[in-house]
Amino acid sequence: MDDMKKDLISSLKEREQVLIKLNEACPVCMDPYTPGTAYFLTNCTHVMHKECIKGYITSEIDGGKPEITCVDPKCKKLLAPEDVFRNTSDD
Ligand SMILES: [Zn+2]
Ligand SMILES: [Zn+2]
Repeated sequence: MDDMKKDLISSLKEREQVLIKLNEACPVCMDPYTPGTAYFLTNCTHVMHKECIKGYITSEIDGGKPEITCVDPKCKKLLAPEDVFRNTSDD
């Protein structure tokens, strides 16, 4: 693993630790985060569970949405489903 990727992963772990400490809830299921469950979107600052983002994207695709946007209704950033599935499949 190269250093850049290692840095990225450790900063995501730190961000996840902060969420857990603040007892932040996932916007999809309203449950708090536990270690290794948070997924940080790459196009905006929003975060949710890995399982929740995968379920959300799957239901949007099943619903025939041509473009999938962030879970937050006020945030219009587009999601890249292939990135999400790639980034959530390695654990
Ligand atoms: Zn959730
Ligand atoms: Zn967003």
